[in-house]
Amino acid sequence: MTVLVQNGTILSATGRRAGDVLIDGESIAAILAPGQADALGIAPDQKVDATDKYVLPGGIDVHTHMQLPFGGTEASDTFETGTIAAAWGGVTTIVDFAVQSAGQNVHECLAEWHEKADGNCAIDYGFHQIIGGVDEESLKAMTYLVDNEGITSFKLFMAYPGVFYSDDGQILRAMQNASETGSMIMMHAENGIAIDVLVAQALARGETDPKHHSFTRPAEMESEATHRAIQLSKIAGNVPLYIVHMSAAQALKEVAAAQHEGLNVFAETCPQYLYLSLEEHLSQPGFEGAKWVCSTPLRSHHEGHQRDLWKGLRMNELAVVSTDHCPFCMKEQKELGVGDFSKIPNGIGGVEHRMELLYQGVVTGELTLERWVETCSTTPARMFGLDKKGVIEPGADADILVWDPNGHTKIGIDDKHHMNMDHSAYEGFEVDGKVDTVLSRGTVVVENDEFIGRPGHGRYVKRGLSTYLN
Ligand SMILES: [Zn+2]
Repeated sequence: MTVLVQNGTILSATGRRAGDVLIDGESIAAILAPGQADALGIAPDQKVDATDKYVLPGGIDVHTHMQLPFGGTEASDTFETGTIAAAWGGVTTIVDFAVQSAGQNVHECLAEWHEKADGNCAIDYGFHQIIGGVDEESLKAMTYLVDNEGITSFKLFMAYPGVFYSDDGQILRAMQNASETGSMIMMHAENGIAIDVLVAQALARGETDPKHHSFTRPAEMESEATHRAIQLSKIAGNVPLYIVHMSAAQALKEVAAAQHEGLNVFAETCPQYLYLSLEEHLSQPGFEGAKWVCSTPLRSHHEGHQRDLWKGLRMNELAVVSTDHCPFCMKEQKELGVGDFSKIPNGIGGVEHRMELLYQGVVTGELTLERWVETCSTTPARMFGLDKKGVIEPGADADILVWDPNGHTKIGIDDKHHMNMDHSAYEGFEVDGKVDTVLSRGTVVVENDEFIGRPGHGRYVKRGLSTYLN
């Protein structure tokens, strides 16, 4: 089966050119100059017309949580619904998190996550491993996963004491292990011990509304933890360290300083931190703000975090945009925290909207087209060892997004989003551009405003070591 994506403008992280993409089976066979296919007498089995459209590598979202158990409930997207929503949004690979908690066996936990995902995903997927209990056994398992399971990144938490929290000694030991195997440490950098004190004090004062979620997790809690993680990574032999879901300008400064020092420190941010704020969203009256309870929290607009995060993206202080997709419905889920903000499940759903929201950054002049491709596809692939993804080149997987820059996208439940949520964090957002056609390993999965893929098409991808450092 051959497919020709023709007459489009092919985008990469380094430039753009007119051309056609020839796909043979699941891989890209060649990039052809306009008209070259006819001249060579190539008659593809299927044609995708990309006239006046951009042709770019499919989006790669390296931070999602499908079916994640959290706070007495479970994230509302299954691997099936979540990956279908991702495909609708031009995403062709996710990297989700298998979860180990203290006392659990890492191998059994990973098997459990495979069981949730395998045969249910509409697009390709990989796993990071969360290590919630660092001990002799889990350290050994980390090495095994790198060598045998295609899992080359491990997430630790400086937040959530009693749940996923690791103390500094445990963090150092895990980092030393990662340093030996060449793998990556991902860090939720917030000082959870101090945050829990502020939360208890706020609740004792009767401050129970959702906005207090942000007031009790001030930016200093994120920058302090970021700084500490960086120091520990340096002691552990300059182990690659990737700070997840950065929301505070102060934390970004710590990352920039570490990079200036030559340390292997990287960071991502998410659309919610670029577009949503404490004042406009989390502080909405009554319980409405619960829709925007996530950690790290949305921060104050007037403090300039959003502006600084956009700048960080331009400067490559922030290398990646992911979503931290962790959807919960208001009904029966977010509602668990009525009268006590600390019981609101933490998370925002956005896997469907990252490409759209970041393209809007191109429209408004925050990013170039190339930087859009780089932060949403090419760098995520290189950062996390997805060797055949993130580029349109011969030999790469034929994961392709055809993007219509003249289209228009309305976001929200009124416009029937595909995530399994009863609300949208971006309700009413309207952006320029539109997902036109999506191919996953050579198969068209979205076209003409229709999902024509299937659950089970997506395959588990064993990842190699990060190639971002090479
Ligand atoms: Zn997360």
